[in-house]
Amino acid sequence: MSNRYKIETKCIQEGWKPSKGEARVLPIYQSTTFKYDSSEQMGRLFDLEDSGYFYTRLQNPTNDAVASKIASLEGGVAAMLTSSGQAANFYAVFNICEAGSHIVCSSALYGGTFNLFGTTMKKLGIEATFVDPDAPLEELQKAVQENTRCVFAETIANPALTVLDIEKFATLAHSNGVPLIVDNTFATPINCRPFEWGADIVTHSTTKYMDGHAACVGGCIVDSGNFDWEAYHDKFKGLTEPDESYHGIVYTQKFGKLAYITKATSQLMRDLGSIQSPQNAFLLNIGLETLHLRVPRHCENALKVAKYLENNEKVAWVNYAGLEGNKYYDLAKKYMPNGTCGVISFGLKGDRKTAEQFMDRLKLAAIVTHVADARTSVLHPASHTHRQMTEEQLVEAGVQPDLIRLSVGIENADDIIADLEQAMAE
Ligand SMILES: *Cc1c(COP(=O)(O)O)cnc(C)c1O
Repeated sequence: MSNRYKIETKCIQEGWKPSKGEARVLPIYQSTTFKYDSSEQMGRLFDLEDSGYFYTRLQNPTNDAVASKIASLEGGVAAMLTSSGQAANFYAVFNICEAGSHIVCSSALYGGTFNLFGTTMKKLGIEATFVDPDAPLEELQKAVQENTRCVFAETIANPALTVLDIEKFATLAHSNGVPLIVDNTFATPINCRPFEWGADIVTHSTTKYMDGHAACVGGCIVDSGNFDWEAYHDKFKGLTEPDESYHGIVYTQKFGKLAYITKATSQLMRDLGSIQSPQNAFLLNIGLETLHLRVPRHCENALKVAKYLENNEKVAWVNYAGLEGNKYYDLAKKYMPNGTCGVISFGLKGDRKTAEQFMDRLKLAAIVTHVADARTSVLHPASHTHRQMTEEQLVEAGVQPDLIRLSVGIENADDIIADLEQAMAE
């Protein structure tokens, strides 16, 4: 991976590197399996003595080319694609946690991640403490326990749109000898590269801006290679002590900076099998080629729409970190000087019915669960994605019951505004 190129060039050129006579465009390796000449060659792969492909549940060349592009965009050393963003977040944490471990996470989280950490992982014996991301460091420190194994947060929380003080969270993690994992889905590496601010591991739901066209569900985990697992040997025995399922290999000793991703691939993917299909990886790659063009347009349109809503008397409040006066404006300027994302949240004056009526009247913007694709879309989290939460949990996650989430697409901004205008008319 080369750091020679600027991010726009990386979007196009990184990943697939064909040699003489090979396809210029990333091929879809639509094959479950890969051929070898001798049984010894194959045996060495299973011992992790040689690297190579043998079965697509673990690794596939199409996926690896795309993962390597994302690693380059984030400035990391290695990456792994997963079948969804949920799988990425689960693996990212489970790769260094086990029954008896504890994690500290921001309470401003995607609803799916909140359920995963708060309910499902609890059943595996991994406890989470949710913290207010805006709390001062001393306050956050109180959530850390002796068995804490990582700190987790979202760069821009979905749908609360809180902007993370990444340096504060990195200090919290590192002063306690654990890595910071950041879900960078909404900002994308075009607007923010969390490794530059001290994060150790980045995850993505590639389903959103990276794919960008609402065509494929997918996820990705990227490792910066910066966290020193051996310095905290006893906390991360899964990486620093022999893996009996691979004849006693020690990941940190054998793979150095690639230890974390190698373990995730050769152990978690092998055993849990949530690989992204090579077809989807191919489509994701096409999305990535225009990420640097789409993300700035999403931000430009979102700012126009946010300003329109802010000046509209039917609107009770607007939350968009790009708006001057927003609580997160300064943090956004620091960590994302070129823009945040295309997602806005706002509330209408009136009751819940006002919100529903408004949404039903929209013609261009569609009511969908999805966010962050080329088409403008809208959702009412309290009645859709976050409906499992109590009112109290909603408020804790930064989701007011009247919150409308508007994912501004890359259509003409005037057309989007006209649609909102007609839907708000009496
Ligand atoms: C959508 C989303 C996820 C989950 O990703 P899927 O691809 O839907 O599984 C995780 N984190 C954030 C911030 C998301 O927006």
